[in-house]
Order: sequence, then structure tokens, then C-alpha cells
Amino acid sequence: MEYKVAVLPGDGIGPEIIEEAVRVIRAVEEKYGLKVELNYAPVGGAAWEEHGNHLPEETLKICRESAAILFGAVGGPVSEQNLPKWKDVERTALLGLRKEFDLFANLRHIRLPSYLSGASPLKNEIVKGGFDIMFVRELTGGIYFADPKGRAGRGSGEKAFDTMVYHRWEIERIARLAFEIARKRKKKLTSIDKANVLTTMSFWREVVEEVATEYPDVNFENMLVDNAAMQLVKNPGQFDVVLCGNMFGDILTDEAAGIAGSLGMLPSASLREDNFGMYEPGGGSAPDIAGKGIANPIAQILSAAMMFKYTFGREDISKDIEKAVDNVLERGYRTLDIALGNVKKVSTKELGEMIVNEVLKS
Ligand code: NAD
Repeated sequence: MEYKVAVLPGDGIGPEIIEEAVRVIRAVEEKYGLKVELNYAPVGGAAWEEHGNHLPEETLKICRESAAILFGAVGGPVSEQNLPKWKDVERTALLGLRKEFDLFANLRHIRLPSYLSGASPLKNEIVKGGFDIMFVRELTGGIYFADPKGRAGRGSGEKAFDTMVYHRWEIERIARLAFEIARKRKKKLTSIDKANVLTTMSFWREVVEEVATEYPDVNFENMLVDNAAMQLVKNPGQFDVVLCGNMFGDILTDEAAGIAGSLGMLPSASLREDNFGMYEPGGGSAPDIAGKGIANPIAQILSAAMMFKYTFGREDISKDIEKAVDNVLERGYRTLDIALGNVKKVSTKELGEMIVNEVLKS
């Protein structure tokens, strides 16, 4: 079996952590006797230097010819944000890719294993058992994209406006995906809305409830977004799969990432209906630590694990990689971002190497 993947390392720590994910992919090839064709392409500031564009046509071509994109990170230091090399880089590169490939579903796996509970800013009594939440966020609709939006008027009557729109088909497809995922996990799904105030959101609730009837085996509940924001810090362990529209998902996933401790641990996937996907770490290019060999490669490695599961249908390989990561962490090896207490501090490369060895030996 041959899989084709576009590899877009990007900027900052992107190339360093992608390198470790690629080593894990090579180990998977060896262990499972399969071939993964990796085609590298520039993106972000790195692409700007070569092509004067954050998302060159040549990169898009390589992505179109692949079944998945493994993406590192883009962006430069805050002090250089106004240089043409960095200006609007996230918007051009990331939103450009989401739009080009109609990546309507964003999956963020936010997990705090119990042995890392000390990395969470929450009290130990709340997180000592850890938590494991899969957020399923609608990514191409809602208030961020609908028209009309703009500004009008003058003086004290001047106003600005955005429009929130969801079509039945948009809600149905993201809800079905979330229920399918819930079926393969603990069979629990919480749908987030603001049905008490927004017409779009009472429609969201109505459509999700209709889809829920197709999944009687999944324990389903609705939750208002304000309550969800509070429940996440009071008792994150109550959630399994959380379904959200675009804006609420944007906010709640960052809150959940915050309580999980380090951005270096959180993978994500953005999917098209035919399972084409873009896989990337939850964090950015981390210019503060780039080039120092200390970045945590786990988010990128687990993003590759998600790729095997969601694009290539190889849940066995995905689980194998996740287990390898857990085994290495449970033995006490950590990169600096998660090095609390009496642990063994290792570099990006050393941690990658240990995960590779674990994949090969198990
Ligand atoms: P960031 O996520 O890059 O960094 C925030 C903090 O988390 C930093 O202290 C960083 O060192 C740490 N961190 C992130 N990933 C880590 C890892 N793998 N291992 C260890 N520590 C890690 O966010 P920021 O500092 O706000 O943004 C930096 C640049 O990244 C900006 O140019 C921003 O536009 C860009 N950015 C890109 C993406 C993306 O490409 N998807 C996402 C967010 C931010």
C-alpha cells in the first residue's frame, strides 16, 4: 500500500518537529511494510523567501496531488510582524489551505494524561485523573465567513456588523462526523450552542437533535456555551466528544488547550468530506525556542498518528504511535515545556528517537 503526503514544515520550530514526525513515519513504514511518499513544499515565511508568496502555487499543486498534508507551523517573532515576510502569514497560508481544500471539520484532540496533571494550571484535585476530549469544530461556516459584514454610518451612529449563518447541510455533515467519532470513543457527545439567544444556534440545536436520533447508542447532551466554558475548568473529565460551531469552537479549544498545560502535546486534524486532511500541531512556530533543539515534537508526531487514522483508515497504526508516546512519557522522559519535578529532560531529537524505538519494538 502506498500513501502520498505533502510535507509543509514552515517556520520556527516547524522544521524541527516535522523531522521527528517523519522519522516516526519511516519507522511505521518499516514495521508495517508500507510505503509513504513524502513530498516537501515550502509554506509561510520560508516560502516567502523563495517565492515572494506565503502559499505558492507549486505548494498547492503538491498538496492537490497528495491524500494528506502534514503541516508544521508558520509565523515569525512578534517584533518582526510587520515585515512583508510575516505580514498576514497565518491568514494567507492556513486559511488559504482550509479554503482551497474545503477543510470543513477541525478535530483537536486535547488530552491531559494523569501523569502530566501537574502541567495543568488547574488544581490537582480537578485534574488528577487527567482528561481526554475530542473537539469537533465546524471550520468553514458561521459568523467568521457569512455575508453581509462590514461597517457603515458616521459619528455616534457608526456601526459594524457580522452575520451568523448556518445551513442545514453544514450542521448535518459536522454533526454526523462528530457522532461517528463518538461511536469509536466513549459514546458521549456534547453539542455546544447558544440556543437561548441566537436563532442560528436554536436551529443548530434542532438539526443536531435530529442527527442524534440516528445514533441512539451515543449518550447525547446539549450545553450552552457559557456553561461549557465554566464546566471545562470545573470538571473537564466529564467531556468526551464536544461538537461546536466555528466561533465557539475557536474559543473553547483554546481554553481547553490552556488547561491541558503545554501546546507541544496537542495534535489537530482538518478534514474534507472525502477524508483528505491537513494535520498540524496545536501550537505555532514558537520563535522563542526555535533552533534550540528543545521543542516538544509530540504534537507533530500525534498529528501524524491522526493522519493514519482519519485519512488512511489505519487506526491500528495511530494507536501504535499513541502508545509509543505514552510509554516514553511514562518512563519519565520530557522536553522542557513539560519537565516538572523529578523527570529526565531530553532534547527534541532524543525524544523523537525514543518514540521511534518504541514504535519499532512494540
Ligand atoms: P506559539 O504557539 O508559537 O507559542 C506559545 C508558547 O508555547 C511559546 O512559549 C512557545 O515556546 C510554546 N510552544 C509552542 N509549541 C511548542 C512546542 N512544540 N514545544 C514547546 N513549547 C512550545 O504562539 P505565539 O508565540 O503566540 O506565536 C508565535 C508565532 O506563531 C506567531 O508568528 C504566530 O502568528 C504563529 N502561529 C502560527 C500558528 C500555526 O502555524 N498554526 C498557530 C499559532 C500561532
